[in-house]
Amino acid sequence: MSTCDQFRQLYEAYAIGALDVEERAALEAHLATNCPACTRAIEEARGLVAQLAYLAPEASPSRAVKKRILDAVRAGKAPAERAGPILPWWAWAGVAALLVGTVVSGWEARRESAELRKLHDELTKVEAQRRALAAQMEQAQRTEAILADPTSKQVSLATKAANLPGVRAYWNPKLGIVLTGAKVPAPQGNRTLQFWLVPKGSGKKPISAGIFRPDAEGNLALLIKEPPAAITDTAALAISDEPEGGSPQPTTTPTWVGPVA
Ligand SMILES: [Zn+2]
Repeated sequence: MSTCDQFRQLYEAYAIGALDVEERAALEAHLATNCPACTRAIEEARGLVAQLAYLAPEASPSRAVKKRILDAVRAGKAPAERAGPILPWWAWAGVAALLVGTVVSGWEARRESAELRKLHDELTKVEAQRRALAAQMEQAQRTEAILADPTSKQVSLATKAANLPGVRAYWNPKLGIVLTGAKVPAPQGNRTLQFWLVPKGSGKKPISAGIFRPDAEGNLALLIKEPPAAITDTAALAISDEPEGGSPQPTTTPTWVGPVA
């Protein structure tokens, strides 16, 4: 058994600060030798714990609760057997996260039990929430960055309809396009709005950049991360009203058009 093996079950406990003094001193002495395997494992454990903390920022488990979870996991027992149903969902998620590491072995025999299935379900739910949140945040940050960047080119899309507002696009060569508008009426029924890049050069066909509908308030904030053409190859932006699912080419005269100067 290598030195690292004796620490393998302590990484997660170390990351949440639940090790006792001797264990922590021993692990830290080992980390001071710059062991790459243990250093990486600790970083991973910290990342996992940080995600859980991020999901439950108001819920900071007491040291006693942490200890009980860790003890239970190490002993291969479900915390519920000792603690009763007092553990909140996030603590269960914490236990489930701890199980993902090398501490699984003690639970192997109980894999089919209802409790483990519950833990697995919790973890799956937490992971799905985390991913959805991360995707939303990435989208919001990118939109903000495009709007704030002075190198983003602004394109005003005008309409001939007197009752409709104008729409504005911000095209950043590196980050993509954000299409913004307010009080934009939703298209009729199941119809959709479709965004087009009109290429430079005569006879070239518009390229679809996506379909969208404004939200219930008529707000529009469409992000196109990877526009299907370069800004230097594009003469104009256009939006047309199309059947559900969009069209390969515009089937109506575009409602909004703006030149890419
Ligand atoms: Zn090591």
